[in-house]
Amino acid sequence: MSVETVIQAEGVSKRFGDNHVLKHINMSVGKGEVVVLLGPSGSGKSTFLRCINNLERIDDGLLTVNGELSGYRRDGNTLYELSEKQIAKHREQVGMVFQRFNLFPHKTVLENIMLAPLKVKRAERAASETHARELLARVGLPEKADAYPSQLSGGQQQRVAIARALAMRPSIMLFDEPTSALDPELVGEVLDVMKQLAAEGMTMVVVTHEMTFAREVADRVVFMADGYIVETGTPEAVFGNPQHERTRAFLRSVR
Ligand code: ADP
Ligand code: MG
Repeated sequence: MSVETVIQAEGVSKRFGDNHVLKHINMSVGKGEVVVLLGPSGSGKSTFLRCINNLERIDDGLLTVNGELSGYRRDGNTLYELSEKQIAKHREQVGMVFQRFNLFPHKTVLENIMLAPLKVKRAERAASETHARELLARVGLPEKADAYPSQLSGGQQQRVAIARALAMRPSIMLFDEPTSALDPELVGEVLDVMKQLAAEGMTMVVVTHEMTFAREVADRVVFMADGYIVETGTPEAVFGNPQHERTRAFLRSVR
């Protein structure tokens, strides 16, 4: 029970104008835990991931990542806010993989992976190349170092995007529908890389509609709708015996 908490959200709220997108979200993620976030489109899943990664700032509540305040905190009338520098340091520890891989088209696979460590961390070139090649092997693409993104399939590009995120040696990985843009036959190779990462003990929060992945890999499933966490539990509990009609309706729709 003494698993270290690495992400903690307490009463997190986020609004875009009048649109109240996250409503008092409470959630904690332990070190090495894999949490799958499910929910209909527009329920706030991406926004929540973006708040964890400081791409959005919360309006209310408390969000800590790796034991440190992330972004923003309103406590009564007192407002705590991180500097740009502190936010950048936070972001280094959190890798993010999106639906669209956004690799730089005019850079090789190796250059894409090395870019952030060289620029942000001022890593040494030789060391960062060695690490990039290790990561390419880890995602099953050791022979693609000198290829350009356009020469790769969507699944291969997404695996490169995962390697690129890992190049910063993050302690947490966030995935936002990483297989949703892929042809069905390419989904499995990306999920396999994610499964392997999970098995190696990476802390992961994954937004996905891949129910088989959720069943096999998630320690916990969190179902969100309309900016609320409706239900959370083990995959067996949430899929096998959902407590809320909203969850049941959603699960029927994705099966
Ligand atoms: P999900 O990922 O669950 O589909 P999102 O977090 O993307 O949900 O969106 C939740 C709500 O927030 C939606 O109503 C969406 O239109 C709104 N939203 C998301 N990002 C922005 C933004 N940058 N500006 C304004 N509204 C946004
Ligand atoms: Mg989304």
